Amino acid sequence: MSTAPVKSMDAIMALCKRRGFIYQASDIYGGINGFWDYGPLGSQLKKNLRDAWWQDMILRPCWGKAGPNGNPVRCVPVETRIVQHPKVWEASGHVAGFNDPMVDCRETKGRYRYDHVQVYVPASGDAGDKPVFAYVGDQPSEAKQLKKAQKTFGEVKSVLLSSIPQPWARVIGPDAEKPGTLTEPRQFNLMFKTYIGATAGENDVAFLRPETAQGVFVQFKNVVDTTRVKIPFGIGNTGTSFRNEVTPRNFTFRSREFEQAELEFFCHPDESVAWYKFWRDFRMEWWKSLGLAGENLILREHEKDELSHYSQGTSDVEYRFPFTAPGFGELEGIAHRGNYDLTQHQKVSGVKLEYNDTERGELLPNGARRGERYLPHCIEPAAGLDRGALAILCEAYTKDESRPSPEFMKIHPRLAPIKAAVFPLVAKDGMPEIGEKLHAELTGKFWRSGQIDFDEKQSIGKRYARMDEAGCPYCFTIDGDTAKDQSVTCRDRDSGQQTRIALDKVAAFLGEKIGV
Ligand code: ATP
Repeated sequence: MSTAPVKSMDAIMALCKRRGFIYQASDIYGGINGFWDYGPLGSQLKKNLRDAWWQDMILRPCWGKAGPNGNPVRCVPVETRIVQHPKVWEASGHVAGFNDPMVDCRETKGRYRYDHVQVYVPASGDAGDKPVFAYVGDQPSEAKQLKKAQKTFGEVKSVLLSSIPQPWARVIGPDAEKPGTLTEPRQFNLMFKTYIGATAGENDVAFLRPETAQGVFVQFKNVVDTTRVKIPFGIGNTGTSFRNEVTPRNFTFRSREFEQAELEFFCHPDESVAWYKFWRDFRMEWWKSLGLAGENLILREHEKDELSHYSQGTSDVEYRFPFTAPGFGELEGIAHRGNYDLTQHQKVSGVKLEYNDTERGELLPNGARRGERYLPHCIEPAAGLDRGALAILCEAYTKDESRPSPEFMKIHPRLAPIKAAVFPLVAKDGMPEIGEKLHAELTGKFWRSGQIDFDEKQSIGKRYARMDEAGCPYCFTIDGDTAKDQSVTCRDRDSGQQTRIALDKVAAFLGEKIGV
């Protein structure tokens, strides 16, 4: 278990606002619950994360590594709409099943996801006439209820609320004083409703998509028919999804509007488990490569009884956010979905979605193949870009009182919104001119991946501190010696160390560090 102190979420949120990473949506109107905007630094950070996903999943999947079949992995993108035909959500099961049963507390007015509520009961399991103590993991109620339960029973264990027969007359709700205040679980549909057309009525209801994945299944046939993709291959889709979350919380972690990056990888059923393991492991490696290394990141394989009936495996990449510590929160789910989705869409649309695999199937006497027809199986790595950006920000936030800039952001150079800064030490003696030239050279080379800053005001210490908070990995300072020896000072954000480097080597140095 980690011994590092848990970072303060308040401090991270304050820095995010102060430096323009993340703002409350509609801030001047008091905000709107469950919605967040990105400022200048945050929007570039998120774009860099989205681009990294696109590059490593679509343009050069898995960094060029071979898949389990020994061949390079092939993927293509689509961009599908937020509003789909309402039947899409019937087929996908979202209309019927996309709701989390919730439990309300009559005393505190708190509302909890039914599957999240646990109860401390005596280790023997038999509480007799005594009340038992409900809580929600990773919430303050957990420690409070544990203390009370231990005082009442001594040794205790934790069980799911759903394992206790209703009505829960002896259950004390997470923040309640009296027993018996929890209601029976109720369903709430999480899809946002909208109406299509200017004079729309109840017959014109549509929904804002709760996930990007269904757009891929709906276009599967068009992609197969109009491009030269062959099984196995993936179709990626990124974009905004909406869920009317009952309790949005923990900064952007649970928002009502968020961005997803999902890949649906289609393969032959016989190869599906191998592809599932391949994607699960690559996705974990990918998050690590962006700086979420070490003990804050885990791959959690779901237990058999957690799996959907069609799934042969699901894993979550989970990150230890400050608000979940010592526990973890989901960043991405990698699911073996079998052929569930294509089966459903084939059934509801009436359109055949089978794939004709001409590399398999019966060999005819003339040497040709008849082709095997089947509904491919699908492996789905489904990542959240907002949760991803939040994990990057939480991991990056570093406090070190011994530095002149006690708070700094160790953002991975590939994702850093500002890639470098150029500082003339003083605004005279030809330094600004050399600085402007270097700034123009670096901007010309690196504008595709982020900003190059230029600043000649304030003390050099203050300028370094500003860049540290913005997560800028390198600063190049032009000083009195530059004109004489054609070298600059290169300051490293993480170590604070300063080294001399030749002026004409700066671009090559930076390119290597930020991977461009
Ligand atoms: P959770 O159990 O936390 O509600 P989920 O299992 O329903 O998440 P998926 O349907 O698997 O999530 O969605 C894939 C990814 O989309 C998640 O791993 C997460 O990164 C992101 N995501 C889902 N819901 C939200 C949300 N309300 N706010 C921000 N990101 C979200």
